[in-house]
Amino acid sequence: MKEPTISEQDHSNQYQRGRSIKIDKGIKLPKKKAQGNNIETIEVMDVGDSVYFEGHNDQAHANNFASTGRYHGYDMTMRSMPDGGFRVWFKGKLREKMKPVDNKVIGEVAKQVLDTKCPNCESNEVGYYLTTGVFNCSKCQHEWKEER
Ligand SMILES: [Zn+2]
Repeated sequence: MKEPTISEQDHSNQYQRGRSIKIDKGIKLPKKKAQGNNIETIEVMDVGDSVYFEGHNDQAHANNFASTGRYHGYDMTMRSMPDGGFRVWFKGKLREKMKPVDNKVIGEVAKQVLDTKCPNCESNEVGYYLTTGVFNCSKCQHEWKEER
């Protein structure tokens, strides 16, 4: 059987444009860097694997990585390392995919988190897990819940 070619399938189009197009097979789509890559990385991680983010400036990147995983229903834990970097562990799959939270709620929570100090070491470098309602101190790693 003769394989259809693009010029037969799309003859009118080709005629109008006055040029032919060609299909290249087997050329891989280049992987996106930065954000788009987070979930691709997470999905090949095994339970107990972790990713290291170097230096204090990478905290946002590490946070973003962990949030991406949580958003897709994975249990991620982030810890600051003694050398100033950050490490995010993949701890397995949560039962349900996290629902998107509306911006108003995020705004209120962000305000509350900014006003919160760690009850253990008084640091104001405090994070908050929307899914579990748990506060987390970036300095001493203390975790706690507060009445809202
Ligand atoms: Zn603390």
